[in-house]
Amino acid sequence: MKIANYNGRASLIIDGRVVDLERVSRGHFGPDTQALYERFDELRVAVTSFDVSSSQELDITKLWSPVPAPRQVFAIGLNYHGHAAESGATLPSIPATFTKFPSSLSGPNDPIPCQGPTVDWEIELVVVMGKAARHVPASRAWDFVAGLAVGQDISERTMQFAAGSQFSLGKSCEGFGPIGPWLVTPDEVADKDNLELTCWVNGDRVQNDRTSDMVFSVSALIEELSKVTTLWPGDVIFTGTPAGVGVTSHPPRFLAVGDVVRSEIEGIGVMTNTVIPAL
Ligand code: ZN
Repeated sequence: MKIANYNGRASLIIDGRVVDLERVSRGHFGPDTQALYERFDELRVAVTSFDVSSSQELDITKLWSPVPAPRQVFAIGLNYHGHAAESGATLPSIPATFTKFPSSLSGPNDPIPCQGPTVDWEIELVVVMGKAARHVPASRAWDFVAGLAVGQDISERTMQFAAGSQFSLGKSCEGFGPIGPWLVTPDEVADKDNLELTCWVNGDRVQNDRTSDMVFSVSALIEELSKVTTLWPGDVIFTGTPAGVGVTSHPPRFLAVGDVVRSEIEGIGVMTNTVIPAL
């Protein structure tokens, strides 16, 4: 199942076409995409009985964030062996967790405001929770996941490191969290722990790796985070970025107005975000 936020309305993507969820469910589900995650098991069952013949053509410019207003947004630093190595960092023994403020989240077509001279890209697999999770062992963790999306953990590096080890501010400028193009349930991807991620800037391939390089797998992250706090339906986890970010390039490279960031994850999709002047 693919869930989209199409022009602000909860929708399904079926065979490349758009099905409005409120209409097809005759009002059983509303138009609020975020609210779907509170009833995700119910949706999984109900979707099998919908008559989806009244679909409409997909215009990708009308795709908004499939998870527009989560309660909590977790992000994990140094979670790929390759990225930890290029950063000169030792591997963390527990997930290096920080937050992105929910107000930083944006959609798959939204611009990235250039909020400083050292704005950087980080393609990431985004996990969205489908039910409340507390003390969940890794062996059961995927059962709590609604789905996966492509994410960019955009970072203003100077701001990120200006306050010691507290990353959240430099990761949370408006527009610093594009997610999209839709949410794909784990059963739809071939190998959910081994997905190829690729990021291009103006056509240059800057990041390319597989999620199997993660230090803490998706399952391990859910186990570790749910030991500390409840993960609520619709909560977001940015699961870390592979090698190839701008700050560790030689010489360092950062985003400038007009740059185009293209992000793709195997089995999920592609999103394109253009850098615009600071807000
Ligand atoms: Zn990141």
